[in-house]
Amino acid sequence: MIVNVIGAGLAGSEVAYNLGKRGIRVRLFEMRPKKMTEVHKTGYFAELVCSNSLKSEDITNAEGLLKAEMRLMGSITLEAAEKARVPSGKALAVDRNIFAKEVTEAIERLESVEIIREEVTEFDPEEGIWVVATGPATSNGLLPFLKKLLGDDFLFFFDAVSSIVTFESIDMERAFWGDRFGKGKDYINCPLTKEEYEEFWKALVEAEVIEMEDFDRKLLFERCQPIEEIARSGKDALRYGPLRPTGLVDPRTGKEPYAVIQLRREDKEGRFYSLVGFQTRLKWGEQKRVLRKIPCLRNAEIVRYGVMHRNVYINSPELLDIFFRLKKHPNIFFAGQITGVEGYMESAASGIYVAYNVHRILKGLSPLKLPEETMMGSLFSYIIEKVEGDLKPMYANFGLLPPLKVRVKDKFEKRKKLAERAIETMKKFLEENPW
Ligand SMILES: Cc1cc2nc3c(=O)[nH]c(=O)nc-3n(C[C@H](O)[C@H](O)[C@H](O)COP(=O)(O)OP(=O)(O)OC[C@H]3O[C@@H](n4cnc5c(N)ncnc54)[C@H](O)[C@@H]3O)c2cc1C
Repeated sequence: MIVNVIGAGLAGSEVAYNLGKRGIRVRLFEMRPKKMTEVHKTGYFAELVCSNSLKSEDITNAEGLLKAEMRLMGSITLEAAEKARVPSGKALAVDRNIFAKEVTEAIERLESVEIIREEVTEFDPEEGIWVVATGPATSNGLLPFLKKLLGDDFLFFFDAVSSIVTFESIDMERAFWGDRFGKGKDYINCPLTKEEYEEFWKALVEAEVIEMEDFDRKLLFERCQPIEEIARSGKDALRYGPLRPTGLVDPRTGKEPYAVIQLRREDKEGRFYSLVGFQTRLKWGEQKRVLRKIPCLRNAEIVRYGVMHRNVYINSPELLDIFFRLKKHPNIFFAGQITGVEGYMESAASGIYVAYNVHRILKGLSPLKLPEETMMGSLFSYIIEKVEGDLKPMYANFGLLPPLKVRVKDKFEKRKKLAERAIETMKKFLEENPW
């Protein structure tokens, strides 16, 4: 059976390479350079659209652990990165042109991969296996077909998300639980005094933002205002808007605080919380600086920053099974950022995972879920099974992994043990279930 892969980005390249090198017939559709996206600049596969850093290689960093697991499974992204490496301390940074050229040539060398430089605008789901890996800048030509396939409500066009922090990094000595006029454990409330509010407001209005194109700006702002824009409209705007304290009584004072920042639970296990109404265009460093002005979040571990840019992704928890197959068309898979993973490495990792299971299916075996003790397994399981409410794209992070059986106080030691457990688990999984 032929496997059709749409999009030769980070994810699609991993799918095509990992299947092609095992002799599976693949048709890889890539519309560039004939038709470019708004973010790509070349005709190479796996082009890095922004930073040239593939982030840390240290396994006590979530991105480093992800790479270690990807290496065990086999990754063209990491093979090419090795050849394109530029000095960058503990991080893996690459010469982006050498990197993309290496990936492109490695795929071009595979006899079983046919490369078709065309935009796909529709396809017949019955014609072999399909992997949609068209990324955050999926072409407008394909969107009507995807809408028809998935349903209007299941395709998100903009990524306007608030920052997410880990529960364990919130200062719960100061924060308090409760909904407006009620109790419950769905919201954590971070109270601010008048002085703290003013300091926070000042930092917010002075912080640097990422510029957007006028068209995106207009479309996006019709739907939701970035927090810094609300703040700019007046000193009290936030206090009467997303930071209003109405109905939230601080048990320590018995009164409503001057202002309150609410955090909403993001996952079923309560390990992640997002800041309510905090969609923002602030640069990442600035977000960190501004959030640290909130006393309960002084030591907050931010696992994803708020962003606002065009980003096509689907409602994976509703649409996909754990193998990233469409529930209603099991021969259509999705891979990469369109599934709701975020980041170069996460996108590539999802491509490896999809290739692994497509390969198993073609061998007549059942697809397999990766163990949750691995970074890959926990990330994919988060997206499909653990999210509560709307899916927001997610990076690899240690908060996703199931806790250790023994309590380890030191943060570094804990990560080291989690990473060692993840690598051992992945090795054992692959020994028992090789490609
Ligand atoms: C502006 C921006 C900046 C980003 N910066 C970073 C960063 O610095 N670091 C980071 O880790 N992550 C970053 N990301 C997030 C993400 O990791 C990357 O976008 C990553 O490239 C996603 O991989 P992918 O394979 O899913 O999609 P892509 O790498 O975008 O690949 C999708 C491919 O599909 C092709 N395609 C689209 N539609 C069609 C069609 N209809 N027919 C045929 N081909 C099609 C495209 O040309 C493209 O080659 C950024 C995202 C955006 C939007």
